[in-house]
Amino acid sequence: MNCSNKQKNIDDCNCSYEPCARKGVCCECVRYHRKNLELPACYFSSDAEKTYDRSINHFLKVNKTEVPEERCPAQDSIHGRSSWHSDKGRK
Ligand code: SF4
Repeated sequence: MNCSNKQKNIDDCNCSYEPCARKGVCCECVRYHRKNLELPACYFSSDAEKTYDRSINHFLKVNKTEVPEERCPAQDSIHGRSSWHSDKGRK
């Protein structure tokens, strides 16, 4: 698939799995991982990404600490402020 943003996406991509043909074509990357109930590398820190474990469970495990509110500006509009904060302490 041709993507006019491919080089820019590659420049911003933290994925260390070099042989991947989807690198830089974010829609294919998201589609592939979503189909497998996973998240793309860019959801993970560099250390976590290098494990190649893209599972949602891995994401939750490495992000157990609360994400600062200022990093989640969409939360209020998507889920409402109370749902984000009421999830505190959930397992
Ligand atoms: S996150 Fe997955 S699909 Fe995306 S470039 Fe890396 S290995 Fe490929």
